[in-house]
Amino acid sequence: MPQPKLFDSIILGAGWSGAVAARDLASKGYSVLVLEARDRVGGRAKTWVGPGAKIDVGCSWIHGYREGNPARGIAKELGVAAHLPKPAEGVIYGPDGPLSTSAAAALRASLAAAQASLKTPHPVPAPNASLASALFNPSSPLFQGSTAPSDPASTTVTATSPADPSSASAAAGEQAPALTGDKRLAADFARMLEVPLGLKLEKASLRWSGWESTTNFAGSDAAPEGGYEALVAKVIDGAKSKGAEVKLNAKVSGIKDGDNKVTVTTEDGSTYEGRTVICTIPLGVLKTLPPSFFQPSLPPFLQSTIEGTHVGILEKLLLQYPTAWWPDADKVGSYTFLPTSSAVPNENSSLEEVFAASTLLCANFSCPTLPGPTPTLLSYISETPARLLLRHPAKDVAEAYHAFLVSRFKPSSAPPKPTEYALTNWLTDEYAYGATTTPSIVSDKGERSPMDFKELGRPVWAGKLGFAGEHTDMEHRGSVAGAVVSGQREAERVARLLVLWEDK
Ligand SMILES: Cc1cc2nc3c(=O)[nH]c(=O)nc-3n(C[C@H](O)[C@H](O)[C@H](O)COP(=O)(O)OP(=O)(O)OC[C@H]3O[C@@H](n4cnc5c(N)ncnc54)[C@H](O)[C@@H]3O)c2cc1C
Repeated sequence: MPQPKLFDSIILGAGWSGAVAARDLASKGYSVLVLEARDRVGGRAKTWVGPGAKIDVGCSWIHGYREGNPARGIAKELGVAAHLPKPAEGVIYGPDGPLSTSAAAALRASLAAAQASLKTPHPVPAPNASLASALFNPSSPLFQGSTAPSDPASTTVTATSPADPSSASAAAGEQAPALTGDKRLAADFARMLEVPLGLKLEKASLRWSGWESTTNFAGSDAAPEGGYEALVAKVIDGAKSKGAEVKLNAKVSGIKDGDNKVTVTTEDGSTYEGRTVICTIPLGVLKTLPPSFFQPSLPPFLQSTIEGTHVGILEKLLLQYPTAWWPDADKVGSYTFLPTSSAVPNENSSLEEVFAASTLLCANFSCPTLPGPTPTLLSYISETPARLLLRHPAKDVAEAYHAFLVSRFKPSSAPPKPTEYALTNWLTDEYAYGATTTPSIVSDKGERSPMDFKELGRPVWAGKLGFAGEHTDMEHRGSVAGAVVSGQREAERVARLLVLWEDK
């Protein structure tokens, strides 16, 4: 009976990290097999293609484009242009309509000052102190620019400040303050941080807040032309051109260690053998795998790190129209809607109530900040509204959001209805279970720290089984850069190991 092929490396997953690892190893002449559960490559790089438009509904920006993000070099090498958006105005809508330029600038300045004050909290905050506890503290710089009267005694929590972070009231789960007037506006505006964080401010650790910002790629953002998904597909094509094999619809159901090889089984019962395996299965999925998936089981410390780290929620809601009917559609880059209602939405809330109670960011693709404008609005939905909206059919959500936009933009004549819509569902996607990892969270079950992401990337089984993916990079977790750097790191490590074995 012929022996099955023994690959130098089997890579689980064809997202950014798997694609980069496959390309790097295949380029060095190693035999590579990529097993991908979906019927497409790209993973959380996913591009919506509609009439005259390609819009990313997973990752969209090469963050830190000018600051060293390795995705820039990959795009350039593959002949994919990336575009830095031209500057455009951002309009903030308060409960009574658009804020004046000066009021909006004051809100932004207060939030920036509050964030800056958190960078080096001193003394060190308690492990269970949340970002909310400091941001919404009555003495927070967030409220320094606010002029409307507000009664600190009316706050529902005596929050701590970074200067006094250790009091018990800084614990997770506390309620945001019941503020009024400008202070409420400032607090509602601060909720927009929940979009990039992927979680509520009450869950984000104060101690590690902004920790990554000193080293990660940040500053300028550029969008790859044609979308991120096609760029990953080009990376995979590059790997294939160097001999890598790629199997789609190949959901891995188990990995078993052996003397000189690792055996990988897919759901259809096929088995594959590799001298090494690089697992890029996202953290959200790793959390759901049965203990028997890895044989032998992963070390207890790694298992507890998988359990204790957090995957955030971020969804995108897209509406495309025949014409751009919203105000200053050719000038404004984005609209931020602050809540009109202070009611806390829950499972019984109507879609209208959820939108009314949420801080929503809405990108305007008809503004020619990037090439190829299209009459499309793309909204970023943070954890609380996302969980509630995803309980409804996407069509109902799109209709309710259109009605919400009409109620906030107040056009003078009836606007057209959307012709296309899309709502992502990364949260229940069985190959993602969430958007990306979040910064360290507050936890009553022991302190979490950025070291967790280092731990998630440590190889096991004498180096034969390695881990890549955004969740395994301490400096750049949660981003394309983290996925790329982790794929490069694991490809290098596996190549070193293979050389070591050859020498022996
Ligand atoms: C809405 C949203 C917006 C974002 N915006 C940005 C942004 O603007 N800029 C940025 O830098 N980052 C952004 N990100 C984060 C970025 O998309 C991710 O960090 C990155 O794409 C992750 O790459 P990865 O290779 O680690 O994981 P993935 O891309 O998820 O790849 C893992 C692959 O493993 C596959 N898989 C899962 N289970 C199995 C199995 N059992 N067997 C085989 N294969 C399996 C999956 O199908 C997937 O293809 C965003 C993410 C989301 C969701």
